Amino acid sequence: MAIHTLYPAERGNLRLSFEYFPPKSDEMEVQLFETVEALSAFSPAFVTVTYGAGGSTKSRSLTTVCRMIKDTGLVNTAAHLTCVGATKADVDAVVNEFTTCGVRHFVALRGDPQGGIGARYEPTAGGYENAAALVAGIRAKGDFEISVSAYPEKHPESADVTADIDMLKRKVDNGATRALTQFFFDNNDFERYLERVRRAGINIPVVPGILPINNLAQTRKFAGLCGASVPDAIITRLIHLDEAPEERFKEATHIAAEQIVDLARRGVRDFHLYTMNRSPLVAAVCDLVGFERAQKAAPARREGAAA
Ligand code: FAD
Repeated sequence: MAIHTLYPAERGNLRLSFEYFPPKSDEMEVQLFETVEALSAFSPAFVTVTYGAGGSTKSRSLTTVCRMIKDTGLVNTAAHLTCVGATKADVDAVVNEFTTCGVRHFVALRGDPQGGIGARYEPTAGGYENAAALVAGIRAKGDFEISVSAYPEKHPESADVTADIDMLKRKVDNGATRALTQFFFDNNDFERYLERVRRAGINIPVVPGILPINNLAQTRKFAGLCGASVPDAIITRLIHLDEAPEERFKEATHIAAEQIVDLARRGVRDFHLYTMNRSPLVAAVCDLVGFERAQKAAPARREGAAA
């Protein structure tokens, strides 16, 4: 057994969740729902669907979330919601639309500034001023699960990790029940961050965000934008495999599985996987770690049919 595979006794009570984004075309929609079906085999505790800042994906997010709940039976589908560029009335109306199709779990986010990552954030007149205010607004509307963001390597706009943890505390004080982290690759960063979060008196679950690397160049670019780092050791393992898709897939599977197993051995029980709406790599990671697949129901046998 490889070291990035958990022994059965180590697997007890581990939970998975998956993030999806709303598809932009019919083709992408087919791919998304094939992915959702394939990954449902791992019985995720919940799945989430992202929401474009400024409401840019509002109708696609709504359609996707409603279809997940109604057609695929993923009743614990969480709707991401951002408040940037929207009034409180706009946001409240979207909350109502999500709840009408059965949503009981929101991922409450401020969203990137309207000029994009790096631009200065300006609260909208009549809107929620930040994610903490949004959490309070959603909490006032019902007894929902409310997840929020957390940043083990610091949000790019934050002066320091202390400012980030202060913001997380405000979100928890206003009713957040879980934090989902930005992706990271060095588990020491997560462990150090979690120690500081607990010392600040924050006791909600802080679930590590795991990004299996489909494409190294894209991951490095995205990490640069959102303040995450890609360790040299990972770059070295993947950078020469651009022309070798099978080996690259295998190496990326091992990298993510090693990260999950190491976190599990440090006591982490929940894992939020960024799927990028594709199942093969995420499924390979889950299989390698040893997450169990639900048995498909066997077709009913006819009365009296030979065994
Ligand atoms: P907050 O928690 O309010 O702020 C993040 C940090 O930035 C704070 O800790 C605070 O210290 C600092 N900060 C905030 N405002 C200021 C300020 N004015 N001056 C100085 N520092 C400040 N984006 C989307 O558009 N759609 C999504 O669906 C989405 N899903 C996400 C899911 C997860 C799990 C994560 C981690 C991020 C997601 N994002 C999404 C990205 C997120 O919207 C951006 O990171 C955004 O810039 C901050 O939103 P937030 O809710 O994390 O903000």
